[in-house]
Amino acid sequence: AASVLWLRRDLRRGDLPALGAAASAADGGNVLVLFVLDPALWDGGGPARRAWLAATLEATREAYDGRLCLRVGDPAEVVPAVVEEVGATSVHVSRETTPAGVRRDKAVAAALGEAGVEWVETGTPYAVGPGSVVNGSGDPYKVFTPFSRAWRDHGWPAPATEPQDLSLARVASDDDGWKTVRAALSEDDLPELPEAGEEAALQRWRDFLDDSVTAYKDERDRADRPGTSRLSPYLKIGAVHPRTLLAELRGRTGQGAQTFETELCWREFYADVLWHHPRSSWHDLRPALKGMTYEDNPELVQAWKEGRTGYPVVDAAMRQLLTEGWMHNRMRMVTASFLTKDLHVWWPVGARHFLDHLIDGDIASNNHGWQWVAGTGTDASPYFRVFNPVTQGQRFDPRGDYVRRYVPELAHVPGKAVHEPWKHDGAYDHGYPQPVVDHAEERREALRRYDAVRGSG
Ligand code: FAD
Repeated sequence: AASVLWLRRDLRRGDLPALGAAASAADGGNVLVLFVLDPALWDGGGPARRAWLAATLEATREAYDGRLCLRVGDPAEVVPAVVEEVGATSVHVSRETTPAGVRRDKAVAAALGEAGVEWVETGTPYAVGPGSVVNGSGDPYKVFTPFSRAWRDHGWPAPATEPQDLSLARVASDDDGWKTVRAALSEDDLPELPEAGEEAALQRWRDFLDDSVTAYKDERDRADRPGTSRLSPYLKIGAVHPRTLLAELRGRTGQGAQTFETELCWREFYADVLWHHPRSSWHDLRPALKGMTYEDNPELVQAWKEGRTGYPVVDAAMRQLLTEGWMHNRMRMVTASFLTKDLHVWWPVGARHFLDHLIDGDIASNNHGWQWVAGTGTDASPYFRVFNPVTQGQRFDPRGDYVRRYVPELAHVPGKAVHEPWKHDGAYDHGYPQPVVDHAEERREALRRYDAVRGSG
């Protein structure tokens, strides 16, 4: 027999239960490893996201000894065609749980079903599959802390080992596939990306365990220091599975390891929320701000996107996003707060921009992260909590190094004075813009708007 392993956001070879399932189904026959470049998704992301996927595909091809078949097209047509080509009797995947992924998989499974080919889902991109953690009455959890307790109690299997009797099929890719991949890697003005692939992910993880996990709890909020794992782009694309990380964390005691486990749980929580509430990807999860009035000010939104708001940490962070395809977590909160509370813009506008540029861009974590800040998400930060961009900078970039790294117009301003250029003589000599709005005033305005709708939810 032959089987097909269709990779999506599980671009690795280790700890991949669907690979084991595909090998068993092939029963000594060949497993064809397939990736489908779906133009609908490929064209929807920005250049950095495409380059990150492209680099990961190249690394994955190497990990499978060159035997990764890349095809271009609508999966509902491509997958059945490949199945026929190799005479496979089953297609194996990790179960997808996002609204778009579920829709696509339904279409593909139906097309395969008509041809009498089995569709087999084994595992998910999460330690605990979305939808599996429920409370005593069988309902999903609405807030994080009880979810995290139940998630730990639920537990997860040990990492999967590679099947012994694996034989990989060699099937030609589309001519266009790898060409498209190479073109994505040589686009102009790409951000500097981390090394892609499973090996690089595991190396980064080992470095984090050696150097940073102990101090993680205290360091993770410091935007100026490399205190976090920066594993998010690898987790997003499945170059490493969280189960692999959790298994190694379990051997460790200490606050750092505990906190890191909790952060991984946030990723699982948001995936669970999205599973139960697919509409929340682009709509308010809770009607807490029903009737709220939002501004549609393209010029201010553009200043925010380009890092020209005149608030140094906001600008540093927005430029970090553009130059690295990544942004520090604390700064994601500060910049999201600035757009929603200081500029009074509805959160999906910002969420869209983040998704276009983040190489870890993930609909569940991103859009619920935005809703948390905006005040419409699960156990949301209350709307009246407005981040102050100056004090956030002073606390989480206390020496100003983060700002100077990304905002060259302020490179001459020393220490933490960089957070209040308006108090420093000569700070504006190199073209740094004046604040586009007055934070204190806009904070009051945000609270006025909040008062006007409070109670209507
Ligand atoms: P670490 O601190 O090393 O954390 C380890 C891992 O835990 C992360 O890689 C991530 O998978 C998970 N994690 C940590 N914090 C969170 C969180 N708050 N929510 C969900 N998972 C978390 N994360 C994404 O992976 N993709 C996104 O598109 C995304 N968008 C966000 C948008 C906003 C507005 C906010 C506030 C947060 C967003 N996050 C997103 C969560 C968080 O900012 C990133 O996961 C984190 O900054 C990634 O860096 P790291 O790998 O060094 O994190």
